[in-house]
Amino acid sequence: MKFPDKVKINGIIYDIVQEDPKDGHLVKVRNWGEVNFQECKIYINKNIETQRKWQILFHEVLHTIECDNEMDSTESYIQTISSNFYGFLKDNNLLKD
Ligand SMILES: [Zn+2]
Repeated sequence: MKFPDKVKINGIIYDIVQEDPKDGHLVKVRNWGEVNFQECKIYINKNIETQRKWQILFHEVLHTIECDNEMDSTESYIQTISSNFYGFLKDNNLLKD
């Protein structure tokens, strides 16, 4: 499955921008992804392997859902749900490479 360049979340279209961390947004150590709500953009480190990009995309989508619904989820919760949901989709062939 082709890695998307846009996703729609709660009716809002987010551009997915793959960039090198040194280009501006992903400058922190291990900051592989980031969602910018003002710009409606999800930044993903372009240097990481595609499977990991999918996992990070799910992570940032969950942050967006959480923010839109004013939930109070911890980073640990977001990481656990996103990585396990990615595993569920892969293990059941619901997300083809
Ligand atoms: Zn996060």
